[in-house]
Amino acid sequence: MADAYDRPLPVPQPESDFYWERAKAHELWLRHCNACGQTYFYPRDICPHCFSRDVEWRQASGRGTLYAFGIVHRGPTPAFREHVPYVVALVDLEEGARMPTNLVGVEPVAEHVRIGMALEVTFDDVTEEITLPKFQPAG
Ligand SMILES: [Zn+2]
Repeated sequence: MADAYDRPLPVPQPESDFYWERAKAHELWLRHCNACGQTYFYPRDICPHCFSRDVEWRQASGRGTLYAFGIVHRGPTPAFREHVPYVVALVDLEEGARMPTNLVGVEPVAEHVRIGMALEVTFDDVTEEITLPKFQPAG
C-alpha cells in the first residue's frame, strides 16, 4: 500500500467480527441458514429470508458473476475524490448471496465491464485491521 488509506473504514460488529477476521486471512465467509437453505450477505445472526436464528458460517468459493455495476466519476465524499473513477458492483456469489463490493483489475470504463462476467474475490489489505474483499475478472 503506497499511501495511508484515507477512506471510511467498516467498523466490525459482534455479528461480523468473524467475517472481518477471516477476510484478514484472505478468506471469504458467508452466513448460511439451516432452516431455509439460503446463503446471504451481509453477515447477521438472523436469516433475512425466514428470520430463523439457525444459521452458521460457511466458507465461500470466492467465485461469482457480476449482477450490476456503476462507474463512479464523482466521489461521494472528499475522501473518494482522488480515487475516481472506480467501479461499485453487486456480485452474485456462487453460493447464492449477493454482495456489494468494488470491481478491480479491469479498466473502469463501460466497454470493459459486462453484466454476467465471471469474477473471483481478491483481498485488499487497506489497514492493519481491515481487509476489504473485492472482485476481479476470473483468471
Ligand atoms: Zn432462512
